[in-house]
Amino acid sequence: MSPVAHFFTGWVFANCFDLEQRDRALISLACVAPDVDGLGIIPELLTRNSSHPLLWFSLYHHSLHNLMFALIIAAIAFALAAQEWKTGLLALLSFHLHLFEDVLGSRGPDGYQWPISYLAPFSSSLQLAWRGQWSLNAWPNILITIVLLMVTLWLAWQRGFSPLEMISARADAAFVMTLRRRFPRTRKEIEPS
Ligand SMILES: [Zn+2]
Repeated sequence: MSPVAHFFTGWVFANCFDLEQRDRALISLACVAPDVDGLGIIPELLTRNSSHPLLWFSLYHHSLHNLMFALIIAAIAFALAAQEWKTGLLALLSFHLHLFEDVLGSRGPDGYQWPISYLAPFSSSLQLAWRGQWSLNAWPNILITIVLLMVTLWLAWQRGFSPLEMISARADAAFVMTLRRRFPRTRKEIEPS
């Protein structure tokens, strides 16, 4: 699935638990973390027509989709979190939600399945793949992304914070206010007192 879908998966997952702002961010980011290896697409595209193209994306994409990197991310979350154990474990789960989503629907445009080498780089004995895997741009991914966005908007409206809180508290507050003005909870709230 796309990094956007993974991010909102992590956000909705984090919001199933009672957490502080920083811990919510850590768990949300843990769900996108495996795709950090996809950043190689930038140097690869930039050097595509040069005499020494860097094939970082082709070589390394999906190389961080494994248990070892999951444990590293969980350890980082543990170190930075307010609730160390809870957030560390939830970050580990969040990372695995990403792997699960990729097994479901990340077939490449060429039909390649990108099996997940779960025990890499130590062993290639365990490859996770599913025959029914749909492609990256197939409708289930679009539907899942829309549903996650709707849930994120509803959570923002209901709880008073959105993923924007990771960037700017002011932007987040303005966003929630706009949502609540547009969709008032009760008639009373829009009437002047
Ligand atoms: Zn991925």
